[in-house]
Amino acid sequence: MRSAEHVPAAVLDRYATGGAGIGADALWAIEAHLEGCAPCRERLGEAVARRSPETVSLLARVHANLTTEMARSRQMPARRLPRRVARWVPPGLWPRLAMTLLVVAAALGLDLAGSRVLPSLVLLVAPVAPLLGVAAVWSVGLDPAHELVVASPRAGFYMVLRRSLAVLVVVMPALTAAGWLTGASPARWLLPCLAFTAGALALGELIGLRVAAGALALAWTAGVITPSILAARTPLLLEPASLPYWAGLIAVIAVALVLRRDAYTGLRSDTWFVR
Ligand SMILES: [Zn+2]
Repeated sequence: MRSAEHVPAAVLDRYATGGAGIGADALWAIEAHLEGCAPCRERLGEAVARRSPETVSLLARVHANLTTEMARSRQMPARRLPRRVARWVPPGLWPRLAMTLLVVAAALGLDLAGSRVLPSLVLLVAPVAPLLGVAAVWSVGLDPAHELVVASPRAGFYMVLRRSLAVLVVVMPALTAAGWLTGASPARWLLPCLAFTAGALALGELIGLRVAAGALALAWTAGVITPSILAARTPLLLEPASLPYWAGLIAVIAVALVLRRDAYTGLRSDTWFVR
């Protein structure tokens, strides 16, 4: 049977009563065709109604049981966010974004209250600020709906990028406002910030996004923020002279991201499911 042909009525009748006498390869072809052919699925429904009363009564029983179960079970809470917002920022991401804004506000408060001797805390945390949100963009532990998301047609790199962009759209204006108040211009932290976000996504393709974001934030805190505060001076990495290197790093990471973009949907690594 070629896929362009519909399933003959006699074969459908036999399939509706259990498929006795149909070879395994023909059975496979019928099911493959039914998956893609609505008219044949409709004809199958009619064939079942005509030829297999036990299937019809089974379906009626399942339908009745499901209806009572659904009436008895707790209703899902109504959607609180507009659909367009929920599509970009899943509910699991909101607490993390709120936490990020709190961190930025705390850094701003310390900057405004503290002496001018220390380097700007807003400038120091800006490069890794989005990582708190980015970690939850694609993580089984941080997104309660992760397994549903993985099975959706748009899962993978596209969704990771889209949600990361949503994180940046929330975090960037907060950093810009805080930087404006403390004199930490976006020109100094924007490229490092993008490099860390892209770097977390690229590293996430190898070790899982949550671990990657955590490791990068920890490395920056231990290697740059702490020594800068102890030495009371702005790190060389956030001086204008370093910007070309950040730009080069972003270009390299972007290529790596695109080359391995299928890693987020690939099931060959179970990293996503254990972490
Ligand atoms: Zn058909």
